[in-house]
Amino acid sequence: MKGMMMQRPLRISDILEFGAEQYQHGEIVSVRTEGDIHRYTYPEAAARTRQLANGLLAHGIELGDRVATLAWNGYRHFELYYAISGIGAICHTINPRLSPEQLIYIVNHAEDKVLFLDTTFVPLIAAVKDHLPKDLTYVIMSDKDKMPKDMPFEALCYEDLLEGQPATIDWPEFDENTACGLCYTSGTTGHPKGALYSHRSTVLHAMMIIVMQTSSFVEGSKVLPVVPLFHVNAWGLPYSAPLSGLSIVFPGSALDGPSLFKLMDDEGVYSAWGVPTIWMGLMAEIQSQGRMPKGFKDVVVGGSAAPRSLIKAFEEHGASVSHAWGMTETSPVGSHGVLPAWMADAPLEEQLDIKQKQGRRCFGVEFKIVDEDGKRQPHDGKAIGELFVRGNTVVSGYFNNEEASAKALDPEGWFGTGDVASIEPGGLLVIQDRAKDLVKSGGEWISSIDLENLAMAHPAISNAAVIAVPHKKWDERPILVAVAAGAEKPDLAELQAHMEEHFAKWQLPDDVIWVDALPLTATGKVSKLTLRQTFADYVHPDER
Ligand code: AMP
Repeated sequence: MKGMMMQRPLRISDILEFGAEQYQHGEIVSVRTEGDIHRYTYPEAAARTRQLANGLLAHGIELGDRVATLAWNGYRHFELYYAISGIGAICHTINPRLSPEQLIYIVNHAEDKVLFLDTTFVPLIAAVKDHLPKDLTYVIMSDKDKMPKDMPFEALCYEDLLEGQPATIDWPEFDENTACGLCYTSGTTGHPKGALYSHRSTVLHAMMIIVMQTSSFVEGSKVLPVVPLFHVNAWGLPYSAPLSGLSIVFPGSALDGPSLFKLMDDEGVYSAWGVPTIWMGLMAEIQSQGRMPKGFKDVVVGGSAAPRSLIKAFEEHGASVSHAWGMTETSPVGSHGVLPAWMADAPLEEQLDIKQKQGRRCFGVEFKIVDEDGKRQPHDGKAIGELFVRGNTVVSGYFNNEEASAKALDPEGWFGTGDVASIEPGGLLVIQDRAKDLVKSGGEWISSIDLENLAMAHPAISNAAVIAVPHKKWDERPILVAVAAGAEKPDLAELQAHMEEHFAKWQLPDDVIWVDALPLTATGKVSKLTLRQTFADYVHPDER
């Protein structure tokens, strides 16, 4: 027998309208690319968002169209999130740190109709524009009087799209499974793959993280998403904040320790979310000033394993740290390391033992770990296996990519994360290693395999492997371990120049180490595990 309850679609537009009605004093504060600080309330944000939605409709944007953004964290980007998805189009957030090749690929693959960009990114687009769709409309996210002089390509001004448009709209109603957002993630090799979120998955995720991380969602307090809006929807904060009455502080482009410290101090930010690299920069500034930014109490760290020393430093300065795990493919939050209530009075070192782990799974996300044959392993804290996940906020495949979609799920319908983990009897997740061949530097991926392939195309190299080595600031950096084809051993600069055409500069290896042979596994593949062990004591050139 079916229950007799109404079925209303979960829609993103309802989140903003809810926030604007219920939290009229909720504020959005943004550091603008124009250089100043912009602030307005949720009702004002909603009014402009409705104008923008009307502007997009007037421009011919329809249900299912992809509309791209290339922008820092700021109020216009927030408006785009809601206006695009609100009318049933798909907000495709582009990561500006991609290589030009990847950027060209994803804009063409997504078949974007419009590209909204910050002035900062005009040169980036000018350089690749000839390879982007001919009918793409460009919109510069700027005030009219701050539009770049001598624009190298034709573009509209964001504010012109809004001008004259009504600040009211009847948000269209559609199936809650309608796509709303698209975010590409780098794979171990080949082109990036698109995770295509739905209204249903996004609304559920927004509610899920509030339940999980109640300490961050204190009505009337301010949250700072340092994690970019172009990186998995800033971990869901643009949706969870208006739902729970948080004000948002968007930091713009300056993410260094001193800039963040000043902004947080001026605004009284209570909770801030970001990757370890960001928090290391901020901690250096906290140590140099000998104090925390005013009111800062809640640190959420994720995207890479948070070092124990970093968690400890924040805890000793009076902030509570929670450590989250997730992926682009999981919306992203899958688990959250909130300290169990019964440990509130435990000594710090014991608390750190827990906080260092990746935490409890979110409600609605299931975990299993399996061995190489796909056999489930016990959740006993000892067995280690690849982590698979299942739930309403997990991808079921990749956008317009049959090949990758076919490989995404196992026969039981679970998504393989490529992370190697153990799960404790109480359910705590501990990420132990990474099965996927990638390096994560400052929260961004670098494909080891693509670097290796390119290195091996150099005539002086007969075999090569790229491994991640620890780095204080960037968490991990790639180094190249190479076998020479003959007597010639080109230096690092020459090898970097060889790879530069296909990779962004920050993705290039920082060192080359020549060896006689690479270690192999029983099946004849290069053993990355052995290599990582061999170079366990390696010290990065920056830290020598
Ligand atoms: P992305 O899709 O770029 O967000 O990257 C997701 C991947 O980042 C995961 O599969 C992990 O390899 C890694 N990751 C994310 N959060 C953590 C964490 N808290 N600890 C360790 N690795 C993490």
